[in-house]
Amino acid sequence: SACQQVAQIQPTVRFQGPAGLSIDRIYSRNKDKVVIGNKDKVVIVMGATGTGKSRLAIDLALNYPAEIINSDKMQVYKGLDTITNKVTEEECKGVPHHLLGIVDPDSNFTANDFKRHASLAIKSILKRDRLPIIAGGSNSYIEALVDEQVEFRRRYECCFLWVDVAPRVLNSFVSERVDRMVEMGLVDEVRRMFYPTAEADYTTGIKKAIGVPEMHEYLLGEVCGNDEETQEVLFHEAISNIKKNTCTLAHHQLQKIERLNSKWKGSMHRLNATEAFLNRRRGRDGDRVWEKHVARPATGIISRFLVD
Ligand code: ATP
Repeated sequence: SACQQVAQIQPTVRFQGPAGLSIDRIYSRNKDKVVIGNKDKVVIVMGATGTGKSRLAIDLALNYPAEIINSDKMQVYKGLDTITNKVTEEECKGVPHHLLGIVDPDSNFTANDFKRHASLAIKSILKRDRLPIIAGGSNSYIEALVDEQVEFRRRYECCFLWVDVAPRVLNSFVSERVDRMVEMGLVDEVRRMFYPTAEADYTTGIKKAIGVPEMHEYLLGEVCGNDEETQEVLFHEAISNIKKNTCTLAHHQLQKIERLNSKWKGSMHRLNATEAFLNRRRGRDGDRVWEKHVARPATGIISRFLVD
């Protein structure tokens, strides 16, 4: 291929990841940016909420010179870091993240805004000779970016990774995650932005995030001075609705991914993370299984994508 010809005259660059994976990436330079083949390359990590998209994106970015662009429509807003499940600074492991917690929580960030911001971020990442990795659960944003901009497919070659977890396993994981969020301060986080009125509007900005409308009756009850018993009932109802709505979201996201995969002629690379989740639940080494079933195969796919 053209790339292999270039390899004879260009240096081979070795990137070493923490997991001991090493990748030989052959590249040629065209003006001020990396060009592999004819088009610039973009990686897109998809998957339902809770499947580990963010973790995989970071795993990959530690093996390649890459930067991550968030495509979760709630994580673009500032605030509610716990209930929207934003990656922490520690989890980022120094990998630069774009479109994460940058938008005014009261404004309404749209798919068109995402297309514009994500396109700018891709260009700036490529300018720094790095690989853009888009990761997040908002499939309508990905679809808008990839299919509604004629330029996108013409300009970029995409590699789609789909992190998949069997629904029953994922449902119990996201339910337990809600309990952990409560321990981490979910209630306080929502209380801080709660406005006590019976006709609160949960249709714009970050207030649409699962966890905010569900807490309304409980927080209103606090302001109204409900008795303890009533509050306890309202609290359990709120948490159970958050769990139910998160499972419904995961179900819809999976349906959308399957629809997109057939629209894109089965071009997504599906990585089954179920075993890793089951192992973690059984108290066994989930990390090793994640590495074997998800991180390592994904790294192989990206290596081939980059040199093809
Ligand atoms: P659509 O635009 O058709 O709703 P989508 O795939 O773009 O689909 P999702 O990311 O699935 O959008 O989000 C749908 C809804 O799920 C959001 O409006 C929000 O209520 C909730 N949601 C999504 N991501 C989060 C999150 N990280 N935290 C809390 N709630 C979320």
